[in-house]
Amino acid sequence: MAGIVILTGAGVSAESGLGTFRDKGGLWTRYDLSEVATPEGFARNPGLVHEFYNARRATALDAAPNAAHRALARLQGAKAGVTLVTQNIDDLHERGGAREVIHMHGQITRALCAACGHRWNAPRAMASADACPACGQPATRPDIVWFGEMPYHMERIAGALAACDLFVAIGTSGEVYPAAGFVEEASAFGAETLEINLEPMAPGRFDRVITGAATSAVPAWVAEVLGG
Ligand code: NAD
Repeated sequence: MAGIVILTGAGVSAESGLGTFRDKGGLWTRYDLSEVATPEGFARNPGLVHEFYNARRATALDAAPNAAHRALARLQGAKAGVTLVTQNIDDLHERGGAREVIHMHGQITRALCAACGHRWNAPRAMASADACPACGQPATRPDIVWFGEMPYHMERIAGALAACDLFVAIGTSGEVYPAAGFVEEASAFGAETLEINLEPMAPGRFDRVITGAATSAVPAWVAEVLGG
């Protein structure tokens, strides 16, 4: 097999204690997404947006990678041509040992200056009054791709999707575009497609579906690919 593109979503980090969009009573359900995850929401109330991401940053930093993160890192280390793309903003793939991760929706551990574009490691708690270390403007925001903004690294991802022979979606609901369209894109270029999910998407979108929790299903699949 020449190339594998793996797309992960919130489900891969769920068993590390990080809530998905759908978790009842979770952080996401207590905030209005249009207020905390859009540029317009940030312009209206930057303090609320920082409060939301500060809470998510604290939870992510206190979480530990799980067996799914570690298995994907093992696969990437053992096999050439494994592209790992994540919609997650946590750093659990990296802390699980992954060599290279494409964060298409940004990273909770990074800060971005809206005035000059400078990026740096975010402190545990960010605030509206924080000055950018490069230009000094109090225009700092989490380095997160919000709804209505262009995801990062799209050209690179499109190239990998066109060249892979296997596309695997793990723990993602397939509802947030453009990531939700990657399966059709890879399939159109001739790749086999596999979904690993606790609650799979509507039938027919993938060639193969493995139903299960990420911490058991992903290590089992990686063992299958690596031959034990
Ligand atoms: P989603 O919340 O829409 O869907 C979660 C998916 O994970 C569902 O399909 C569910 O069946 C599956 N799932 C839940 N528990 C699982 C488990 N233990 N094992 C395997 N699968 C499991 O998440 P999504 O599709 O990633 O939505 C995309 C958006 O959610 C992205 O923009 C992403 O940034 C954001 N998000 C990220 C995080 C994170 O960084 N950890 C957490 C929540 C949401």
